Amino acid sequence: MTMKSFLILFLGILLAGSVSGYAQQPSADSSVSSKDDPHLIKKQIDQLAFERRVQKNEKETTAKVMLWAPITLVGLAGLIVALVLLSAYVRKCPSCKAKGARRKIAVELIDTSYEKYTVRETRRYTDMFNVRHIEDTTSDRYKTINTYESHYRCKFCSHDWTRTFIEVR
Ligand SMILES: [Zn+2]
Repeated sequence: MTMKSFLILFLGILLAGSVSGYAQQPSADSSVSSKDDPHLIKKQIDQLAFERRVQKNEKETTAKVMLWAPITLVGLAGLIVALVLLSAYVRKCPSCKAKGARRKIAVELIDTSYEKYTVRETRRYTDMFNVRHIEDTTSDRYKTINTYESHYRCKFCSHDWTRTFIEVR
């Protein structure tokens, strides 16, 4: 045994000691006598170093998850609380100022109007004699604008109020 292969074997034992969990697993090459073959020993050391890197990566990933999971959860909880408060603020009664007091009684359509708009289309094609054609067409279309009125009642003081909103289609 040369000095070099002895050193490699020594390093291999050191590595094997530090990753004993993996080192105990028999590898496919272990049945071959590897003591005198520096290439096989080198391969085994590379394998051990690779396994140690994998283990290190797993530890780092676990640490990242442990750090970010609570931060994400706290952020989500904060967002939900903010949405609930905002919704209560929006449903406030204009008379007694109670938050979340609005109850919808009815929605009625109070107005419908139409708005004209023009659509321009360009069509390009070649006919059977390979002559190119460009056709410009315009067509009129209509948007429907519906105006609705929502009727609300306060569940605390029974104050009634309305709000209008527009729907375009
Ligand atoms: Zn009220």
